[in-house]
Amino acid sequence: MHAADPHRLCTSCGLCCDGSVVRGTEIAASDVAHARSIGLSIIQLDAVHQGFRHPCPLLQSDCTCAAYAERPRSCRDYRCALLTRYEAGTVSLDAALAIVRTAKQLIAAWRGAGARDDAAARVDAAAADVYLWRHFREGEAPPEPRG
Ligand code: SF4
Repeated sequence: MHAADPHRLCTSCGLCCDGSVVRGTEIAASDVAHARSIGLSIIQLDAVHQGFRHPCPLLQSDCTCAAYAERPRSCRDYRCALLTRYEAGTVSLDAALAIVRTAKQLIAAWRGAGARDDAAARVDAAAADVYLWRHFREGEAPPEPRG
């Protein structure tokens, strides 16, 4: 079996940094000054935690990070469920890339549906949401039901 190449998967994806999978990144107090120095707008996320909201301004159109070598510790450490499975060898690169392609198709339909408010639009939104939870956010708390 080939060694996992996270860079190959993530530079075909970018769904964490663009806000599809996670809405923001927490930054440790000791890393805040550095994060600001590379252009991130650090805000207070709650009474205790600081971080920045996604989409990350450093995400480029080719899914690479404009400050990759200097990215904060939280960004270096982040692993979605799909990347975790790929690195563990329980999903192949081809299968992971196929999941990313499907996710992007569902998200495109979801975002396209944002301008509509009908039953089909709600189905598009739910399909993308469920797919993201199943493949990228597994293990986290389930989402609140939509009203
Ligand atoms: S595979 Fe996961 S960690 Fe990598 S870019 Fe996509 S969502 Fe982010």
